[in-house]
Amino acid sequence: MKNILSLITIFVLFFSCGAQNSKENYINKLSTKSTTEKPKLVIGIVVDQMRYDYLTRFESKFGEGGFKRMISEGFNCKNNHFNYVPTYTGPGHASIYTGTAPKNHGIIGNNWYDKTTKEMVYCAGDDNVEPIGTTNRAGKMSPHRMQTTSFADENRLFTQGQGKTIGISLKDRGAILPAGHAANAAYWFHGQDEGAWISSSFYMNELPKWVTDFNTSEAAESYLKVWNTLYDISTYTESGTDENTFEGGFNGKDKATFPYDLAVLNKDNRGFDILKATPYGNSLTADFAMAAIKAEKLGEDNITDVLTVSFSSTDYVGHNFGVNSKEIEDTYIRLDKDLERFFKYLDVTVGKGEYTVFLTGDHGAIDVPSYLQSMKIPAGYLNNKATKTRFEAYVKAKFKNANLIENVSNNQIFLNRQFIESLGLNINDLQESMVNELISYKNVNKVFSAYTLTTTDFTTGIEALLQNGFNQKRSGDVILVPDPNYISYGKTGSTHGSGLNHDTHVPLLFFGKGIKHGETYKKTVIPDIASTMSALLGISFPNGATGEVLGFVID
Ligand SMILES: [Zn+2]
Repeated sequence: MKNILSLITIFVLFFSCGAQNSKENYINKLSTKSTTEKPKLVIGIVVDQMRYDYLTRFESKFGEGGFKRMISEGFNCKNNHFNYVPTYTGPGHASIYTGTAPKNHGIIGNNWYDKTTKEMVYCAGDDNVEPIGTTNRAGKMSPHRMQTTSFADENRLFTQGQGKTIGISLKDRGAILPAGHAANAAYWFHGQDEGAWISSSFYMNELPKWVTDFNTSEAAESYLKVWNTLYDISTYTESGTDENTFEGGFNGKDKATFPYDLAVLNKDNRGFDILKATPYGNSLTADFAMAAIKAEKLGEDNITDVLTVSFSSTDYVGHNFGVNSKEIEDTYIRLDKDLERFFKYLDVTVGKGEYTVFLTGDHGAIDVPSYLQSMKIPAGYLNNKATKTRFEAYVKAKFKNANLIENVSNNQIFLNRQFIESLGLNINDLQESMVNELISYKNVNKVFSAYTLTTTDFTTGIEALLQNGFNQKRSGDVILVPDPNYISYGKTGSTHGSGLNHDTHVPLLFFGKGIKHGETYKKTVIPDIASTMSALLGISFPNGATGEVLGFVID
């Protein structure tokens, strides 16, 4: 009955809207629109460890063709956040492209304790594939631990495999997780004495000629040069002094001050790996991405291709020198130039207005805690060893058995469930008593049991972030939250991982085909990106996507 009614409605609507001719014209117009309105190429850009405030802090130093072009022509979501913890690179890239959180896609950390195999695993590690382009283990990688699809996967399905997908990043996980499962290729950089872009047998049996040509072109060698600031260092007023006690630096150089002679320093810093912690790692990534567009003919026809590019050097520089360093400022000024170069290349090859770009970060970063302390802001360093010793002593005294604990990692405690069961103990009671013990420890701010996270539906606050990051199958039994600004890290450099705003607030810029010009302070979250891109392309959403479509950015 319902069907007949709706048929009648369609009939009435169809014939009551004026002449048949104009209707046909309208339908024709619609169908032409739906094919030509699709971008020929979608480029997802992730800037590793990019805090939102880098956009505003370094604004006066940026040119018109990079970040500012995206803002002036596209849409700026100014209040964009990660909606889970932990804020690390693996979960970040997976969440951006699958449109959901670790709770669903399963990438709960960069490394985590695997409860089934009882060993630590790496998010992109895969012993069942072979390295391609190297004999090093660095090539034994695939996305097999990511349990849901990326929007690039859905585009592959939608286009009957005609739309290509290629993932590129210095970091394997930054290339592999975004590209998804059905990608044509993912390429990442192997430093040391090789300095080459590599892949794995998950994607191919050998590197295409353009990749081996690129690798033998001495592109990487050309960046082993002197790194000095692009502009006069005295104009870098948006960052701290060049010489301070909050920075790491490179082996073989006493002070973390400009200039850095990479041709000399690389010998004490794992060869080509030194490029990763300089802006030239990003330049090399941009060079390689442009070579991929050319050789793979990305964006040449009307079937949408997807290129994912992750700029990782920003993260290495942040970890080494801290978010307030001159090195970070110079790295962003130079990344802005690489983006300008990249967009100009896209204008010429794919065509202005024929491609769509989004840009975001995979997590933010904290100011170096020792620097925050110098500004009288509460911050510090965790003593994990002391916490662990005290907790183990408590378990031994209370339960007369230290074997109850199987692993402690990523602020989580994994209990030996089989053993606990054999003792006839109740796992939920055990979790709760541990929560009550741990909350009295120094610098432990909050503690939750797995039982709480699976039985209570949290909608706001750190509880909701923890819940989105909690994967029932893979996560631990007890989850700790350290005091704000307390990190497990050395005294120099920045890190990330928390649910605090410095780690969750990252840029989200869209520009190009199908994108409106504008900006919003409305809160958006990382999983919204993949849903929005799927809507823009008119394809199925990634199978686990939980993000909203940001309809206000779509033209
Ligand atoms: Zn990092």
